[in-house]
Amino acid sequence: MKSATKTAIKTKSYICGEWFESAGPGTEIRHAVTGDLIAITGSEGIDFAKVLDYGRRQGGTALREMTIHERANALKQLGKYLLERKETFYTMSACTGATRADSWVDIEGGIGTLFSYSSVARRELTDETFIVEGAPERLAANNTFEPTHLVSVHINAFNFPCWGMLEKIAPSLVAGVPAVVKPATDSAYLAAAMVKEIVASGLLPEGAIQLICGRAGDLFDHLTEQDVVTFTGSADTGQRLRSHPNIIRKSIPFNMEADSLNCCILGQTVSRDDPEFDLFIKEVAREMTSKAGQKCTAIRRIIVPQDKIQTVAEALQARLDKVVMGDPGEAGVKMGALLCAAQKAAVDANVKALAEHCKLLMGGDDNFTLMGEKAVKDAFYPPTLFLCDNPRETIAPHTIEAFGPVSTLMPYRDPDDAIHIASLGKGSLVGSVFTHDGREAAKIILGCAAYHGRMLVIDRDCAGESTGHGSPLPTLVHGGPGRAGGAKRVHTDVHPFKKYFDDLQIGESLTTHRRTVTEADIVNFGCLSGDHFYAHFDELAAQDSLFGKRVAHGYFVISAAAGMFVEPSPGPVLANYGLENLRFIEPVGIGDTIQAKITVKQKIRKARREDEPQARGVVIWDVEVSNQNGEKVALYDVLTLVARRED
Ligand code: NAP
Repeated sequence: MKSATKTAIKTKSYICGEWFESAGPGTEIRHAVTGDLIAITGSEGIDFAKVLDYGRRQGGTALREMTIHERANALKQLGKYLLERKETFYTMSACTGATRADSWVDIEGGIGTLFSYSSVARRELTDETFIVEGAPERLAANNTFEPTHLVSVHINAFNFPCWGMLEKIAPSLVAGVPAVVKPATDSAYLAAAMVKEIVASGLLPEGAIQLICGRAGDLFDHLTEQDVVTFTGSADTGQRLRSHPNIIRKSIPFNMEADSLNCCILGQTVSRDDPEFDLFIKEVAREMTSKAGQKCTAIRRIIVPQDKIQTVAEALQARLDKVVMGDPGEAGVKMGALLCAAQKAAVDANVKALAEHCKLLMGGDDNFTLMGEKAVKDAFYPPTLFLCDNPRETIAPHTIEAFGPVSTLMPYRDPDDAIHIASLGKGSLVGSVFTHDGREAAKIILGCAAYHGRMLVIDRDCAGESTGHGSPLPTLVHGGPGRAGGAKRVHTDVHPFKKYFDDLQIGESLTTHRRTVTEADIVNFGCLSGDHFYAHFDELAAQDSLFGKRVAHGYFVISAAAGMFVEPSPGPVLANYGLENLRFIEPVGIGDTIQAKITVKQKIRKARREDEPQARGVVIWDVEVSNQNGEKVALYDVLTLVARRED
């Protein structure tokens, strides 16, 4: 079946302003589905010292001549440019065995990080070539901060050749630091296709990005104290690289993202007939099979109440049995291949290691059929499910990562037990809890949070909008599971301003009526405040402004929002305590209709002072003001001083 097709290409590196072809024989890369030879990748002959020096001098100097907003705008333009050419990447990504949905995460998810970081930089950083660090305390003659002669080396895992590269270069480039990208050899051809477009776009200054396809040679020997390394891959490789003599000797910052034995917990309060049960089964099956389980965030440990372990095992197996494996080009195929035969061998070795400690419920062998005539079994692995009866004493499923569609069921006795079992993973990227019971969710989240980068709660109310267990999230600046704890929004009939501090719940929320902004609003607000800025009052100047039309004052928008969410009659809210983190996102023009949503984000109980007639606390409200298109126009936190019921 395997053949050297005419389409096999030599994957070139992009270094020192040129495309470089390996001087040696390189590594043969095969199509994950058909086994055909598609690329030859090697880095023999690269002068790594020269690459780093070129990045520092050429790329670094050019980047730092740009302001932060110019760098961020370049990223945004680059994102648009790459999106217009995305089909090229999808075609190539199919060679990695990925379905279109799998590739979406890598390609469009990756490009999305450019937009996200660009937006954060433009919103939160100054439009200067440097950032002043901290408050303006004058400690030295020049209290400015600017990185100099610095290069960042990004070493990526094979599973996300686009996303892994883009999510790392975006913050680097915003910071004015040139990048040397080293994708994993086996999928470097896809990263190279994207870098080819990046270079062709001309949107980044020369030297801002270089690419090494193939082994890293003596690259690490030439790093200096000023450089930075970010690594994604297996813990074994990461530990080896982190302890490289040059990294230790020069204390070179080394950021490592490695194996993660992520867990998903089914709440004890969930019964077979609850929607959360089906949502749980669906999510676990999805996480096991998307990208054939080659996702750093995939669910590896399925933690289930012991009285439901049998029911869950049956429901999960029934769902996994229906997964159609084969050529992702064929309609109906839900799961593609692993990247290559070597990955299949690695997964199989870890499955065998797990099988010594856990009971194999399904998969783990070659007894499966594939859809599509061209598909060969070399890199395909079936959904594989284990049961570990005693997860407290058995260390294997908490430490062995079979990087494929492999997961282990584990029974727990009570929430404390579930928390303990989750913690045996010794720190994971993500954990999730499926329950409709707020108290159960709170207990598990608080117990597990310290062991997880991100935790999310899913129930019938938020499932539709949830980004899911395994979605890579470039920013959690506002919204998303990391903000306000992923807690559900609680809507009650009583206005939250009529409630005592003690009675308010985190997540309690109010969506207001709407208000259409008129010219009279702008005129009245201008007269009241004395703010007659041209963008509000001068039709011609406003047309030439960045808004292209007259817009309402930002302060009017937040005043109008307060007018909508404040309950005016006397009540437990004693005073407005302040406003934080205000951002105006979109302009509000004449005729736009705005609406506010406030949510209790945090409660800070204050000790009662002797001279205070009333015990009180501070409530921090998350405020979102949106327009008629659902776009956020203003985001901020409002703080209120609220009376406490006790005392
Ligand atoms: P890997 O074998 O550890 O390789 C990772 C990267 O390190 C590759 O680019 C590899 O290049 C490079 N590398 C290996 N030896 C090197 C050396 N001596 N000097 C410089 N670079 C070197 O991992 P993988 O198989 O590509 O990826 C799968 C692993 O990544 C899984 O364990 C997964 O959990 C993890 N992962 C983690 C995250 C996360 O965010 N935590 C995300 C994705 C993946 P070559 O290919 O040329 O050897």
